[in-house]
Amino acid sequence: AAASAVRAVTVLGATGSIGDSTMDLLRASPDRYQVEALTANTNVVGLAKLAKEFDARFVAVADPNLLEDLEDALAGTGTECGAGESAIIDAASRPADWVMAAVSGAAGLKPALAAVDRGATVALANKECLVCAGDFFMERAAKAGACILPADSEHNALFQALGSGNREELVRVIITASGGPFRTWASADIEQATLAQALKHPNWSMGQKITIDSASMMNKGLEVIEASYLFALAPDEIDVLVHPQSIIHGMVEFSDRSVVAQLGAPDMRTPIAHCLGWPDRIVGPAAKLDLAKIGQLTFEAPDFGRFPGLRLAYDALRTGNGATTVYNAANEVAVAAFIAGKIRFGAIARLVEATMDAWIRSGNLAPLTSADDAIDVDHSARNRAATLLPQIAAKAS
Ligand code: NAD
Ligand code: MG
Repeated sequence: AAASAVRAVTVLGATGSIGDSTMDLLRASPDRYQVEALTANTNVVGLAKLAKEFDARFVAVADPNLLEDLEDALAGTGTECGAGESAIIDAASRPADWVMAAVSGAAGLKPALAAVDRGATVALANKECLVCAGDFFMERAAKAGACILPADSEHNALFQALGSGNREELVRVIITASGGPFRTWASADIEQATLAQALKHPNWSMGQKITIDSASMMNKGLEVIEASYLFALAPDEIDVLVHPQSIIHGMVEFSDRSVVAQLGAPDMRTPIAHCLGWPDRIVGPAAKLDLAKIGQLTFEAPDFGRFPGLRLAYDALRTGNGATTVYNAANEVAVAAFIAGKIRFGAIARLVEATMDAWIRSGNLAPLTSADDAIDVDHSARNRAATLLPQIAAKAS
């Protein structure tokens, strides 16, 4: 391949955990990449620092009040600045061949679609945007000729394992889960878990929202839905397997019962490097996998009773018609409420379930046909979740 060609890249959510890992890979080969655009939510200082280091052409913060701060921080550098939601979309619309979508939450949907619509190669870390959008995200990518590369470790593993067989011969996929900090906890203890306990992930260092989702296993629920949309799989074709060491990330079973797995140290720079190098491979900085030192890989069935968020994800997929959008929106509201100390940990899944039930009862189910549809459902589901919040907060488990 043309290793000498300079590639224009954009990182949406550059100041986050995935953004940080992505910038680390770009940093390792400065003459191979030209940074077109970088974005952040509010972290002007972090964004300006990256813009200077990588000589970015354009930077944007989502908070419209921070434009002056950003301009001041980048005065005299030649980097163009923007602020507000539309500036984040502008960043995604600019001509980069490769875009990392690493905004946290459904807020990343419109920017990701802007990159998709111009036919870019999009490394997708932002699973909530796919879960919010439903079926039409991949359809739209196909229409625009965009290439979606899964950056989420499990889905990247499936993507790599799928390469060894034909899609028609696939029987099922298995995504692994560490089980999070509450893997061995009793329900009553999970119910009362504190924020500090939820933020102590055993294997991965990640942003706050996904770390809480990992503790509730809502993250695995989002990933089941993500796998369904990415690879056009039915709910029955997707299994979750608890694997506390997080060494095997995903497996694909083919018709002859061959199971192909992808392994690696739990370091997001490996799947991101795969996306950055694809269809070739680049040198990754993660630690070499030393299985003799790890000694054993263990597996457990997931417990849908202690982790109802996982069960609800399958329910949402089977319901379809916007239910996964509602699942994601309610979870975003619930996680924010838990961080703010308004609800107990155990109430996260209860709020999601109550919001989904209310949604179904109200007869609002309908196929999503556009981004606006998805965003409308997302907004109404957030409102509904906010309305249900006080009663869920008051109720003991
Ligand atoms: P993070 O919170 O560390 O970073 C999020 C980034 O998005 C930051 O740059 C932040 O400034 C920006 N952002 C947040 N809200 C925004 C908004 N409303 N508008 C515009 N920008 C906004 O999160 P993260 O851990 O890097 O995760 C990012 C995405 O990648 C999530 O969807 C997450 O589920 C997914 N993911 C993360 C990991 C991981 O290891 N961290 C692994 C797999 C998937
Ligand atoms: Mg993952």
